[in-house]
Amino acid sequence: MLHPANETFLTILHHHLPNALFGAVPPAYLQEPRGKWQGLGGILARPETVEQVSTLVRLCHEHRVGVIPYGGGTGLVSGQIIENGAAPVILSLERMNEIRAVYPDENVIVVEAGAILADIQAAADAVDRLFPLSLASEGSARIGGNLATNAGGALWEYARSVPWA
Ligand SMILES: Cc1cc2nc3c(=O)[nH]c(=O)nc-3n(C[C@H](O)[C@H](O)[C@H](O)COP(=O)(O)OP(=O)(O)OC[C@H]3O[C@@H](n4cnc5c(N)ncnc54)[C@H](O)[C@@H]3O)c2cc1C
Repeated sequence: MLHPANETFLTILHHHLPNALFGAVPPAYLQEPRGKWQGLGGILARPETVEQVSTLVRLCHEHRVGVIPYGGGTGLVSGQIIENGAAPVILSLERMNEIRAVYPDENVIVVEAGAILADIQAAADAVDRLFPLSLASEGSARIGGNLATNAGGALWEYARSVPWA
């Protein structure tokens, strides 16, 4: 059985991680785009480094508190919220949004889990490369969410570049 992410657990988190990473969960994090489901949230965590994510997940595991990773919140099947049960930690990757490196010769780009899809496309485009994933939510959706949902979409850039006729 999971325990709720409550004030007691917040105190534990504060012993290990900067207080500024945590807060109450604003309503926007508990809704999905079509308003079909209403989520539960105990603590919003917005880490800035991989080490902070690691510490947070370890503490949640040790104290049996649930964690929901959160990217851009554009998912349409409610994976980013939970309706029932113990209120979880919402682990938002929004602060981990850097494009770390671009290696055009290898066709490789290194980004953080919270990088916005449109920013990744732009970084690839800047070195004359195509990042081949495009969807209507690309200005908000983040690569961690794209990978977690196995997102696919319309390859408009690709379609425009190919002489189909
Ligand atoms: C207008 C619109 C158009 C869309 N078009 C498409 C489309 O063409 N094709 C398509 O596939 N989808 C589409 N979607 C759905 C949605 O945009 C995608 O599923 C997208 O990949 C979700 O990314 P996100 O960052 O918003 O994830 P979120 O909604 O935040 O999360 C989605 C799921 O991924 C998990 N998750 C998020 N980040 C991480 C992480 N770093 N590590 C582990 N798990 C994580 C969450 O816990 C949740 O289960 C569309 C949505 C909208 C609103």
